[in-house]
Amino acid sequence: MDDSPIRCTIDLEAPGKQLGHLRIPRSTNTSGWSSLWVPIVCVASGEGPTALVLGGVHGDEPEGQVAALNLARAVGPQDVSGRLIVVPCLSIEASRAYTRLWLSGANLNRSFPGSPDGPPDQQLADFVSRRLIAASDVVVDMHSGGRTGLCLAWSEMHWVDDSEQRRRMVEGMLAWNTDYHFVYIDIAGTGLLVGEAERQGKVVVSTELGGGGHVTAAIHRLAASGLANVLRHVGVLAGEVQTRASLGLPEPTIVRATELDDYLLAPESGLFETFVDLGDRVAAGQTLGHIHFLERLDREPEPIVSTTSGVVCVIRAIASTDQGDNVFVIGREIDRSELD
Ligand SMILES: [Zn+2]
Repeated sequence: MDDSPIRCTIDLEAPGKQLGHLRIPRSTNTSGWSSLWVPIVCVASGEGPTALVLGGVHGDEPEGQVAALNLARAVGPQDVSGRLIVVPCLSIEASRAYTRLWLSGANLNRSFPGSPDGPPDQQLADFVSRRLIAASDVVVDMHSGGRTGLCLAWSEMHWVDDSEQRRRMVEGMLAWNTDYHFVYIDIAGTGLLVGEAERQGKVVVSTELGGGGHVTAAIHRLAASGLANVLRHVGVLAGEVQTRASLGLPEPTIVRATELDDYLLAPESGLFETFVDLGDRVAAGQTLGHIHFLERLDREPEPIVSTTSGVVCVIRAIASTDQGDNVFVIGREIDRSELD
């Protein structure tokens, strides 16, 4: 990593608990010689796997950031077998601004695998790829719908072809103990952090924990309990692993949104109205919402019609909508065995 311009102020190979920063060189209008500091915590003790916990890839998704901040403060070497590396707010500038993207307009979740010679987001992606992900066995990357999307709270995974990697990812996904689990494809570009971690053969567990610009106490509890249970499940964190059965909860609903048709896009720009709520069951041909035309009382609203049957998993959270914006995601229910 000598070619990375990013400096990590702690020794990731040392035992014990260390708090430090990743320092990304930059130059701003208010400081010609500056660096962007991204907090990092490393807790290592004895033998065991390495788990990397990441929050705040997107700055307007506080659920995972809060869970990671609480974990990073609370956890000590006595709780860990192996190594736990936590970066609670990867896109810290965006977190301060409560925006999805960096001030530069960069989407860190389109910057992977990154480059040591690129702009700061690419440099960070490169450091995370080659230094943090490469050193880890398990990668937990927490997201939500952010300000723009309301999601059912779920843990999720990409379909990966390697059956052993997929088996371990399914188990990790289920260990979050959410009511829903979601198997998905990328419809809005490449360069995702989880994609790079999967390419490196890691066990990758991700989430979409609600969203819409507001976090309930229940979601904060689910973020914290799920994260801790996944880390216990993979053997990094001490304590008894819980299952939905041991918690007295029914079987979860597993859905897949792996066809482009599952992601409904606004056919025109306008004001979005939904007729359905999260978790509703809908049928193919059902009108799920309207796009209204602010300036055209003579025009009927444009209907948004589902082309598939399933569960409403995502609803756009911002009424003002541009043509091509995702307004609904419909998940098709599947059996656990279909992920084998
Ligand atoms: Zn996100």
